[in-house]
Amino acid sequence: MRQNESLLDKARELAEARNHKLLPFVRQGRSSGTRCVTCARQVYVMPDPGLNGAAIGGDAIAEVCIRKPSGSVRPANRSVPAAKPKLLFV
Ligand SMILES: [Zn+2]
Repeated sequence: MRQNESLLDKARELAEARNHKLLPFVRQGRSSGTRCVTCARQVYVMPDPGLNGAAIGGDAIAEVCIRKPSGSVRPANRSVPAAKPKLLFV
């Protein structure tokens, strides 16, 4: 099933573009699915989508991962200077 394989790759690509870190896809009957190890949002692929025409679905391709992975491209936590003095007007 070469077509199915490319769909899985596409689904993974879409999810990873949103910072998700996916587990390996698991076949579940006529579809394959996985979820993000960080936020548990799911992705699924249907090689034979039928009427709705949606071959790739799930929250993980629609929404950005809620937590930044440790190896993020963008710095997740800029260290806020804790010792920054506050001015108090009393
Ligand atoms: Zn995620």
